[in-house]
Amino acid sequence: MTAAPPSSVTGASGQPLWHALDADTALQQLHSQRSGLGHSDAAERLQQYGANVLTPPATDSMFKRFLLQFHNVLIYVLLAAAVVSVGLGHWIDGSVIFAVVLINALFGLLQEGKAEKALASIRTLLHITTAVLRGGQRESVDAEQLVPGDIVLLESGDKVPADIRLLDAINLRAQESALTGEANSVSKQAHPVEPLAPLAERSSMLFAGTLITQGRARGVVVSTGDHTELGQIGTLLRDVETLSTPLTRQMAQLGRTLTLAILAITLLVFLFGWLWRDYPLSELFMSSVGLAVAAIPEGLPAIITITLAIGVQRMALRNAIIRRLPAVETLGAVSVICSDKTGTLTRNEMTVQSVCLQEGQIDVSGLGYQGEGEFSLNGQPLSATQLLEVQHLALAALLCNDARFDTSAAPWRLHGDPTEGALLALAAKAGWEHGDCLALHPRTNEIPFESEHRYMATLHHPRSQDDDLSEAVLLPRLLVKGAPERVLAMCSQVRSSQGHQALDTDSWKRAVERLAARGQRVLAIAEKPLPEDHPKAELDHGHLTGLTLLGLVGIADPLREEVRKAVAECHAAGIRVVMITGDHASTAFAIGSELQLGDEHQVLTGSMLDQLSDAELEKLIDDTRVVARASPEHKLRLIQALQAKGRIVAMTGDGVNDAPALKRADVGVAMGLKGTEAAKEAAEMVLADDNFSSIRDAVVEGRTVYDNLRKALVFILPTNGGEALVLIAAILLGITLPMTPVQILWVNMITAVTLSLALAFEQSEAGLMQRPPRPAGETLLNRFLIWRVTLVSVLLATASLLLFQLALHQYNDLALARTVAVNALVAGEATYLLNCRSLQQSTLSWRSWTGNPYVLLSIGVLIVVQLLFTYLPLMQTLFGTVAMPLSLWPETLAAGVAVYLLVEAEKWLSQRLADR
Ligand code: ATP
Repeated sequence: MTAAPPSSVTGASGQPLWHALDADTALQQLHSQRSGLGHSDAAERLQQYGANVLTPPATDSMFKRFLLQFHNVLIYVLLAAAVVSVGLGHWIDGSVIFAVVLINALFGLLQEGKAEKALASIRTLLHITTAVLRGGQRESVDAEQLVPGDIVLLESGDKVPADIRLLDAINLRAQESALTGEANSVSKQAHPVEPLAPLAERSSMLFAGTLITQGRARGVVVSTGDHTELGQIGTLLRDVETLSTPLTRQMAQLGRTLTLAILAITLLVFLFGWLWRDYPLSELFMSSVGLAVAAIPEGLPAIITITLAIGVQRMALRNAIIRRLPAVETLGAVSVICSDKTGTLTRNEMTVQSVCLQEGQIDVSGLGYQGEGEFSLNGQPLSATQLLEVQHLALAALLCNDARFDTSAAPWRLHGDPTEGALLALAAKAGWEHGDCLALHPRTNEIPFESEHRYMATLHHPRSQDDDLSEAVLLPRLLVKGAPERVLAMCSQVRSSQGHQALDTDSWKRAVERLAARGQRVLAIAEKPLPEDHPKAELDHGHLTGLTLLGLVGIADPLREEVRKAVAECHAAGIRVVMITGDHASTAFAIGSELQLGDEHQVLTGSMLDQLSDAELEKLIDDTRVVARASPEHKLRLIQALQAKGRIVAMTGDGVNDAPALKRADVGVAMGLKGTEAAKEAAEMVLADDNFSSIRDAVVEGRTVYDNLRKALVFILPTNGGEALVLIAAILLGITLPMTPVQILWVNMITAVTLSLALAFEQSEAGLMQRPPRPAGETLLNRFLIWRVTLVSVLLATASLLLFQLALHQYNDLALARTVAVNALVAGEATYLLNCRSLQQSTLSWRSWTGNPYVLLSIGVLIVVQLLFTYLPLMQTLFGTVAMPLSLWPETLAAGVAVYLLVEAEKWLSQRLADR
């Protein structure tokens, strides 16, 4: 910036100390004004300063990541074995081990890269938009487009997109723990502070990466991207975490334990073979290496990572954006979904359908955001006096309101809260012109709407005389709109065409019930004329007594069409759906009934919740289907009660105060469209379309991912187990080894590279949403699966050993018999892959064989490489194989088919036993 700031407010770097400058000086220095930058100026500045993004921290180089692939006990063992083999003169074996290690590392790197890329593409879906003034108009821009000098408008729940000098602040508080470590939110205001004030005390500033927890603000951007305080300390707040989840860590741990156990067994087998079986030492050493390699499922962590990453991608396609990877696993176990009503179950397209005045209940026609619609009382058009009363209420609803219509589009586009949009449409139907009304009745103070107090109040000092308006409107006025029980408690009288009357609270409560029973959201609107000399800045909760009730409005918000089916599907899948809403109990019940959530006894209200002890709530919680007049603290209690009962809870939220509940839930779900950044930061998952059906979709994908992980595990373990058993059995029995160590390495490598990956791409099984959620805390490998793993290990080993012995017997050629043994084992693994497409259900059908193209592709590749392995002279030299006569193929393949059929028979039997 050109103008030099006074030296007292310039920092060591020559940058102005923005917090110490007064707001107008700051604006001047940034060559900006309160109405914002012009579009071309903003574009030029974007060129000059660059996008408002933080440079990501340097990631490890490709080479380092490649080297990291070797950082693994198993690889150390293998490399040592390779060196020893070469030392013992086994050049070919040593080189093959080296080659296999290298190929495995390359493959690991490739998979990791793919998974990282999948997550990175998800990260870009979570961009932030910010309200700015450009060319004098309020606009919503991508936070990356912000430039110094931009005027930004922020409110409760927003994430601060850049460093900002405040121009105006109303009840503003910000949570700055990301920068200062202070967990409590701090108060903010627009006055300059001491030049030497430390960061935590710069109350005239907002800093990038922090959150607005209360109030509203207008400020000017002073620095963006890496020049912000956040950029200076070099922390990038990651939106999506790295690839590690409890499950991958659990698997890595399992891998380590298995490795140690296998090394111990290998040592025992080695000693046994040496002391009791008289194998030559070098052969025994190589077989032991082969055994260790065969038994350790080294590819498992990579498979789990890639399966999770595929799950994340599929969920994103269905509008569920995962921010924390463990949520993918947890989603599959969800047993209760607590969902907000407005916008998630309903469309959030609000229309005022009824207005209750002292004169009676008036119906309003015309749907959506537009100014066309008629008023009628008992089917008759309104009289002039009745219309005047409606207009009076509608003007109050328009003024005590923060929404705005963009009338250039048809239907009008709403900027702001849909409840308030409905009130603006009502005002338009009553004949009010938005801009004129705002000009005549400028707002001089306000108490913004918060879900905790459920009302909004504004103070207005009229600007000029207007003959159309009644006397009271010409005085300063206090306007309030909000939940009827809150507003009625503030009122002492009611307005009518005959003047003010005493308030009959009971009859108004009955009117509220009537509207709510139709599923309408009900708001009461009230006013209070103030003395002419009432100070402009004076408004607090204490002023809200002795108000005059103007009337009630009933706002309809239709259900989302697809939600009925989604809720029914969740119920069929054993997942309870609980609706949580800030609305009145009758409104909530009416909407809940449409969704068949439950009966009246299953409705709790916030005040009932307050009366219940934790133990009492736990007793009731399993029967609760609807919670009305709930505040964010109630959400937290509900989750705690559900979790105490062992339920796995997904909970939706959008407001800044929902953050604790979202964090506490097993899967916190934030709304992508209407949710605040605070809620998104706290959530595990963000819904791009705010739609309940997307939660159902995410659960489907979550269950599928879990199934696929199980399938991968149940596939990989027996392939390792089978290979190891072949060697152990041979050594224990003292027979010639049916496979050489390099052949074992070969089998291990090609199954890891081809077959094991295919199951990560499995689609959801039929009947997935007809079974109950998996029990919380259930391990991936349950008793049934351990049995399956053992059975198949034995089957594969038997098939291979049997064919080895047969071929040896028939041809008396060891190299040939070994080639047959390897091919039989591989055939068994390939057919077993088909078994694994479903763990419980039969796969004896054309569709099961052809349904997953990746399975077919990997089996196809496997066939080709096995043919090369058997017939290519180079491979024959490397692996000691020989060309198999054609006559041996039928029995080799039959071994595979037998494994397949036996596993199918086992499935059938265990189903029969389970059905008993
Ligand atoms: P849901 O949980 O179904 O999404 P919600 O929690 O968003 O609903 P709130 O917005 O907290 O519900 O609204 C609770 C009550 O507050 C409403 O029933 C209404 O009476 C009142 N209310 C809602 N919006 C406003 C507003 N903008 N101004 C004043 N009062 C409001």
